[in-house]
Amino acid sequence: MIKGVLVSEGYAIGKILKINDIKIDYRKKSILDPIQEIKLFKHAIHLSKQQLNSLKDETRKRLGDETSHIFDAHMMMAEDPEFIQSVEKIIQDEVCNLSYAIKMVVDHFVDLFMKIDDDYLKERSKDIVDVSQRIIKNALGLPIVDYATIDHEVIVVAKDIKPSEAAQMNPKFVLGFITEEGGKTSHSAIIARLLGIPAIVGAKDILSLVTTGQEIIMDAVKGEIKLSIDRDMKQHYLRLIDILRQQKMEFMQYKGKHSSTLDHHKFELSANIVSSRDIEHVMQFDADGIGLFRTEFMFLDRMAMPSEEEQFIEYKKVLEAMAPKPVVIRTLDIGGDKHVPYLHLEKEDNPFLGNRAIRLCFQEIEIFKTQLRALLRASAFGNLKIMFPMIATKEEFLKAKKIVIEVQQELEKSGIIVKPYELGIMVEIPSAALSADSIASVVDFFSIGTNDLIQYTFAADRMKESLEYLYQPFNPALLKLIKMVADAAKRHQIWAGVCGEMASDLLAGPLLIGLGIHELSMTPASILKMRAVFLKLNYEDLKQLASNVLELESEEQVIHLLKQKIQQ
Ligand code: PEP
Ligand code: MG
Repeated sequence: MIKGVLVSEGYAIGKILKINDIKIDYRKKSILDPIQEIKLFKHAIHLSKQQLNSLKDETRKRLGDETSHIFDAHMMMAEDPEFIQSVEKIIQDEVCNLSYAIKMVVDHFVDLFMKIDDDYLKERSKDIVDVSQRIIKNALGLPIVDYATIDHEVIVVAKDIKPSEAAQMNPKFVLGFITEEGGKTSHSAIIARLLGIPAIVGAKDILSLVTTGQEIIMDAVKGEIKLSIDRDMKQHYLRLIDILRQQKMEFMQYKGKHSSTLDHHKFELSANIVSSRDIEHVMQFDADGIGLFRTEFMFLDRMAMPSEEEQFIEYKKVLEAMAPKPVVIRTLDIGGDKHVPYLHLEKEDNPFLGNRAIRLCFQEIEIFKTQLRALLRASAFGNLKIMFPMIATKEEFLKAKKIVIEVQQELEKSGIIVKPYELGIMVEIPSAALSADSIASVVDFFSIGTNDLIQYTFAADRMKESLEYLYQPFNPALLKLIKMVADAAKRHQIWAGVCGEMASDLLAGPLLIGLGIHELSMTPASILKMRAVFLKLNYEDLKQLASNVLELESEEQVIHLLKQKIQQ
């Protein structure tokens, strides 16, 4: 049995699909028949093009037109006459194997790209390597894995999974995923929860311990992976899967109910989404609103920026579908573990401490303004709340607000109606929490991003599994910061929510409401469970509990007390 960090709850029994386990042998070998080798090369190109086409189709269906264009770059490379002729020439002249010849040509291209001082082209060299590996694997009959086209049930095991890769997975076939790297609040983990795929990260050395096709059990409730299984164990887990399914059905009875405590204290249980495609899920679990729309996902894994029109359509869809319920749309939070190659951004040593989110928007003002124009135009279609990420100071908020007002005035001058909307900030940097009282006088709302607030409070990279022990949402140090924000909001009569992963936790939710938080925004599948928990609790008790907890000294003590009082 291997232990890992549980990031998305559930159970899975299935066969492993191991990613990245194929090492290509690039060594030069003499061959007998160069003509035959070239034929093989051409056939591999043909196959690769077919795969890229279906990959593009799949992606278009699941993630929209624009995202699918990422495969155009791959296609262009597979069709590039210079590439094809150069490889053929090496095979002919040196009477050698195609993998060596391809490697020679690709290395030459990559070298050229790396010499050009352009991050976009540097990033594109990864595409070249990607396609060349696809061609070689096709020629040698080696397996290729494209997340979007996995069409049979598997448990994916990989070193790491990028957020864009996680977003391509179809939960019907990907029963679960396990990675050696990654943290609880990495964006891949967040996507796994959104899609309802059980996931465990930080499973050290798992790649060297398993093989593709091996049947395993993933207990993503305890964070355990069972490698040797027998009939009894399988029966036991089949029962657990059934119980979980029944529990999910039972929670459906909380649809249509108010989100409140037993003594009728009302609050909102909202949903976190990354795209308008998540709305179906949001409706299914009866969210009181959208508490966080991470808009940057629309910008990832594509060749160019989404246009103002494309963004407008996306925001309008979400606002219309939810109206009159509130929709908090966060402006771009690019940087950290979310890369956007076409923005030509400088590589940073500490991307989470660098030019991220609002900082980047101030620098790339046209990108920011385009998004704001799309948002303000969409304001007419629902209950819009615009939220800025990574605000560290009051001045930063005021600067962002000024830009919003400028954009609004420009729109109004051209006859476009902008309906009332709110402007708020994510509190995810300790300085913002510490100055909440001053910032509260100028914003309409706060939403606490505990994923980053924890990362910055404990100075522990949220992507690093070895620092997972410092992800301490229940630590009194963090709770005090949250309390400061809730108190400031109360004094200034604005609302304060929590939209980090902490808000999905069934122990944390009641504590946060007790601390004075008004809204919890979470992965949609957690909403009804959370509503059920609150219907057994009294607000007066939660307030008392929250104040007792603030007197404690460690996360362990807090969890112990919460378990006693909440999970009776
Ligand atoms: C957070 O930091 O808690 C948050 C919700 O934002 P993200 O996870 O996208 O950084
Ligand atoms: Mg954040």
